[in-house]
Amino acid sequence: MPKDLLLRLKEKVLNGECLTFREAEGLSLIDNNSLMLFLSAASEITKKYRCDTINLCAITNARSGLCPEDCSFCAQSSHHNTAIAVYPLISEDALVKRAEEAVKHLTNRFCIVTSGRSVNDSETEVIAGAIVKIKNKFPRLKIDASLGILNEKQIEKLKASGLDRYNHNLETAESYFSKICTTHTYADRIKTIRLIKKAGIEICCGGIIGLGETESQRIEFAFALAKLDIDSLPLNFLNPIPKTRLAAIQPLLPLDILKTIALFRFILPKKEIRICGGRQANLRSLQPLIFTAGADAIIIGNYLTTRGSYPQDDLLMIQDLGLKVDALP
Ligand code: SF4
Repeated sequence: MPKDLLLRLKEKVLNGECLTFREAEGLSLIDNNSLMLFLSAASEITKKYRCDTINLCAITNARSGLCPEDCSFCAQSSHHNTAIAVYPLISEDALVKRAEEAVKHLTNRFCIVTSGRSVNDSETEVIAGAIVKIKNKFPRLKIDASLGILNEKQIEKLKASGLDRYNHNLETAESYFSKICTTHTYADRIKTIRLIKKAGIEICCGGIIGLGETESQRIEFAFALAKLDIDSLPLNFLNPIPKTRLAAIQPLLPLDILKTIALFRFILPKKEIRICGGRQANLRSLQPLIFTAGADAIIIGNYLTTRGSYPQDDLLMIQDLGLKVDALP
């Protein structure tokens, strides 16, 4: 792509206009020689629309494994014979203890995640009870949950307990979804997202890049998220797990990951972009460049079934870049 076209598209976004699908396709063709220019343009967009702090979120696996769904990438699916810890929902008090641990690492967000298609009403009670207790201890801590498909009664219960945000990923483009999951549909996911939005709870919605989708499907996915007007976009980059259906897939190269982050920043200029699973394994020494490419948030600590960085290492990386964390006031 010629340099003047890149600069024109950057100005277009900085002027508050949206890219067209075709313009985004043009940006996706940028080669590695122009990549630093692209990242720097994405950085300007981030600086204009986002605050200058990095948000940290700690996630906890509150119920692990034995999921009846068949998501092709997932270590927790019962369709895959992976060697992960399997346990039912942990207690209210155990959830509070995990929140206490998270707060020690300066996080101002704590997300309770359960494996499975959904949670039942008694599990919803336990999680809602834990949210009340955590909010009493840390009133400024933002609490998120990712519990699968919910009904309206469960959403109301969680909202009344103080839930700030709900995570429900689209995972990938609609045109590719049936290739990665056959036990539920893209429409099922959209339905839950709409119910959450209707209840006035913030929505965290993203997915995984590198599942075998095309560049064009990545752009389709980004435009679907823009249309849903989500609040926060978690981007994972597939770190293939042994014994899953995608175990043999070739992970994306670091520069391709940075280009993808910048592309999402151009398409969703005002949204929080959080880099999640696959950061350490796939980006390796280029991790600090995610913030130039357009990210303004990360997961801190371990992921659900894989290890992350030591929190102190991520905090030092942010400090070394001259950035500040969006710490718990
Ligand atoms: S991604 Fe969620 S729904 Fe899909 S298999 Fe894993 S735990 Fe189950």
